[in-house]
Amino acid sequence: MSLRDIIIAQISTQGPMRMDDYMSMCLLHPTQGYYTTRPPFGTQGDFITAPEISQMFGELIGLSLAQAWLDQGAPASFTLAELGPGRGTLMADALRAASRVKGFIDAAQITLLEASPALRQVQAETLNTYTPHWIDSIDALPEQPTYLIANEFFDALPIRQFVRDDTRWRERQVGMQDGTLAFGLGPAQPQPALAHRIEDTKDGDLIEDCAAAAPILSTVSTRIATHGGAALVFDYGDWRSVGDTLQAVHDHAPTDPLIEPGHADLTAHVDFEALLNATVPCTPSRVTPQGIFLERLGITQRAQTLAKTLSGAALESHIAAHRRLTHPQEMGNLFKTFGIVPKGAAMLPGLET
Ligand code: SAH
Repeated sequence: MSLRDIIIAQISTQGPMRMDDYMSMCLLHPTQGYYTTRPPFGTQGDFITAPEISQMFGELIGLSLAQAWLDQGAPASFTLAELGPGRGTLMADALRAASRVKGFIDAAQITLLEASPALRQVQAETLNTYTPHWIDSIDALPEQPTYLIANEFFDALPIRQFVRDDTRWRERQVGMQDGTLAFGLGPAQPQPALAHRIEDTKDGDLIEDCAAAAPILSTVSTRIATHGGAALVFDYGDWRSVGDTLQAVHDHAPTDPLIEPGHADLTAHVDFEALLNATVPCTPSRVTPQGIFLERLGITQRAQTLAKTLSGAALESHIAAHRRLTHPQEMGNLFKTFGIVPKGAAMLPGLET
């Protein structure tokens, strides 16, 4: 039975499905989910992420976190964590760069939150020299100083969508029409959790809500506030976005999110306001465009050094990668980053409060 048939059977018996349930099934269904069945990244996969574009991305993040570790007195034992590590490339590049900081690697216990067994396997291979271990839920993050990375993790978490109807909201759902999956709207209902969106929306506007994001970041923030550490989050999105940002990508091209469940990557823009609200026990930085952050950390100097070892097609692709990560019309502006540190601690290099 295909995932599409499973979803249709469920809708036939239980009625239209919430968007977050649809997204969860498409991405993480145990046998037919998008992430569970394949490693989707890289030029061979459906989309490419910053660490897969160039090693410079992970290197600069590794050095930024290592500097924060030094700034906080170089704790002798700490968790170096990543949420949704993909192929493990970012972590491998970060560790290689940070190995130049004396004591960092020996003190680090690599901890990965990853839902996909297929990707855990790839991460195990990429990071085999560092003996990483995996956790199933954010609550399992050890009670010790925690330095954490999340790149394109929050955009993969399931969202709900609501269309404003006077002061109430109609939830966008996946149902059936003429034998195929189709979007529809549920009845108008009050949504107390969306009260703050009445002020910046009008009748008919669509907004998105990712209930899973805040508790995860809140747990991370509590660990960091209690034991020390820092986190760096990268993603694409806005401050309280309005409009449908659900996006399906297959083979590097946009596709219909309903057409072949489980075959396309599904993401939605993150709401940086909701994320920052969850960092309360810590000090967050300003939300900063990825390009500016990488420039401040010296990506251009690093690119020039690497360029000296390259020629021909490899040099051209290296120059293109630098541009792709930083240029405002490529990933430089669309992707944004923020960091968090304990109150009173120095902010991560490249960011400001
Ligand atoms: N950070 C990587 C991969 C981004 S894709 C990179 O930049 O290349 C999203 C990652 O999050 C994948 O590894 C995916 O399997 C994982 N993921 C998605 N939803 C998850 C969840 N609910 N819990 C844990 N991991 C999840």
